[in-house]
Order: sequence, then structure tokens, then C-alpha cells
Amino acid sequence: MLLPGTTPILLTSFLARTHMPVINHGFKLALVLVSLLFLPVCNAAPNWYQKTFQVMGTEAKVEFQADSKQLANKLISNVIAEMSRIDHLMSPFKPESELSKLNKTAFNQPLKVSFEMYHLLELSLQYSKLTNGAFDVTFSSLGYLYDFKKELKPTQKEIDRLTSSIDYQSIVLLPKIMSVKFNNRNTRIDLGGIAKGHAVDQCIELLKAAGIKNAFVSAGGDSRVIGKKNDRLWYIGIRDPRDSKKLIVNLPLEEVSISTSGDYERFFIKDNIRYHHILDPKTGDSARDSRSVTILAPNSTQADALSTSIFVLGPKKGLALINGIPNISAIIIDKEGTMSFSDDLVAAK
Ligand code: ADP
Ligand code: MG
Repeated sequence: MLLPGTTPILLTSFLARTHMPVINHGFKLALVLVSLLFLPVCNAAPNWYQKTFQVMGTEAKVEFQADSKQLANKLISNVIAEMSRIDHLMSPFKPESELSKLNKTAFNQPLKVSFEMYHLLELSLQYSKLTNGAFDVTFSSLGYLYDFKKELKPTQKEIDRLTSSIDYQSIVLLPKIMSVKFNNRNTRIDLGGIAKGHAVDQCIELLKAAGIKNAFVSAGGDSRVIGKKNDRLWYIGIRDPRDSKKLIVNLPLEEVSISTSGDYERFFIKDNIRYHHILDPKTGDSARDSRSVTILAPNSTQADALSTSIFVLGPKKGLALINGIPNISAIIIDKEGTMSFSDDLVAAK
């Protein structure tokens, strides 16, 4: 997936300790240092259209080139409707969602689910196996007791009681009847680590089916690009995990998905400890070996699941895993603020 003719561009600095990496082989990108404080703003050219909106508890954006304003408006409505549809299916906060119904009724009692829910759960279990349980949608068996807005965390007693219920093997898929059941009374699931990536993929497919060649779709930290932006590559930045105004890397991208998981999205600090929304299933506590993990992958469902997974695994195990998977790259900022890369993104001498 190397961008032909890409000249590696040297990073001239990154935080104090980071050594200076550049991309050469393996992916359609080069890393570019951005010393600017803000992302460059894309001015919409004549036949470019964009819309930013709120969905799935985050900000989503779509931007694309279309032949007419009429077509663009229709596609923008379709993208918003598609993301809302997925939100209504998979939100743990909407009592009527399919996911909430599963959490209410699936203990020992199979519930027939949509093909989409079945497929995402099947994929989630594959990521659980691949990551030795670092990715686990049953994190919510305990995780539902965290409230990052209200700065609430479970008590030690709740952690002791429920951490062992975080176990993806409690999810039983019954393909013949397209049903799901849980074999643990305390099992709860939450697709927050994969659903936004899925939503981005769905919207890109929708745009492609309408003949759109150049587009960008994002939902929170999950983005995917197709084609180009005005004959140039798309640029997507990675922010400094400890300074929201500072962009540390800007990546030129083409035909790829990029997802960043960070400990700065939903968090609070109590007694000098940062509690945030990515949980280590083994401890029931926030994972603390990374500050941010960015994954580049052919589609957003993969990138989303893997960014959450590698965040939990930390740089050492995470990079070992990514280096064994073709077409996937990782950029990790560890708990000290040091940046490291998968082997396809090579350091400059
Ligand atoms: P964002 O939701 O900001 O895009 P991520 O893609 O990093 O962030 O996913 C974080 C979300 O994933 C959490 O809010 C939660 O819903 C879910 N999650 C947290 N820990 C895990 C885990 N160990 N395995 C799977 N999903 C998780
Ligand atoms: Mg994710």
C-alpha cells in the first residue's frame, strides 16, 4: 500500500524524547511534522460539500465531491440517516436499542438479532481471540458503572464482584437461528469500541454506491478517505494527547482508514489517577500503558477495533501483534509520551 514516489519527510521533533521517524515502505503515507497549532482548514472548492453533525455521542463529518447540490444534499441526508440508524440499533443509552434488549434479556435465553448485530458481534469475538481478550465487548459488565461526565467509578467491591464477568466467552452465537445468548447473568455488552468504525464504513459504501469517488467520513476518532482532496492527498492529524490544540503528526492519506483511541476523550482525574473510557478487561481499570494509539487499516471497522485493542495491549505487545498483520500500521504514544511505530513505518537515520 506504499504511495508510489512518496518521499519520506523527516519529523524534526516530537515531544522531547521521541526519536525521528519517517515512513518509507508499507503504507500510503508519510509522516509530516506539524508545528502549527491547528489543523489546516479545508476550504470547500466549488463542487465540494461538507456537513458536520452530532451522532453516537460524538461529532461526525462527511465531505465529498458531487456533480450537483441536489445530489449532495440527498447524500448528506442519507449519511446522517445511516449513522442515526446504527446509533438506534447499537446505543447502550437508548432503552429500545437492539443492544439494550440483548443486555436486558439474553441471559440463558437466545434473542434473535439483526444480521448487522450478529455480524458485528461475530467480528468482535474474532478481535477478542486475536488480542487474547484485550478487545472485549463484555467490558461493560463492569464498565457500565463508570460515568466519565459525572466522574463516577465503580467501588472496589463492585470491581471485585464484576471483573470476572468481563469475558467474551460468555457470549454464545447461534448462527442457525441468528440469535445471541449470554451464559453469565452479569454479562453486558457495549459496541463502543467498534460501532463507529462500522458506521463510517457503511457511509463510505453508501457514497461509493452513489458514484462518489472522492470523500471523507468520520465519526469521532474514526475516519476513512476515498480518492483525493482536490488532486492532493487527504491530510488527517494526530493530536498531542496532553494538548488538544497541538497537532503532532499530520498524515497524507489515500484509500485508507485511520482511527485514534486516546485516554483524553472521556476521562476524569481523581487522586492524581486518570480514569478513562478504555478498560483493561483483565483488571476492570482503565488501561494505562498508552496515551494514544492510531491505526491505519483498509477499513474503519478494523481500524476502530484495533486502536482500542492496541491501546489496552500497550506498545510492546501491541506492536508485536500489528507487525504480524499485513496492511495494518500503528503509531503509538506511550504513557511517557514517547512515540513508536509498526515496522512498516521506518525511522530515519
Ligand atoms: P472512541 O469511542 O472515542 O472512538 P475508541 O475507539 O478508543 O474510542 O473506543 C473506546 C470505547 O470502546 C469505549 O468508550 C467503550 O465503549 C469501548 N471499550 C472500552 N474498553 C474496551 C475493551 N477493552 N474492549 C472493547 N471495547 C472497549
Ligand atoms: Mg475503537
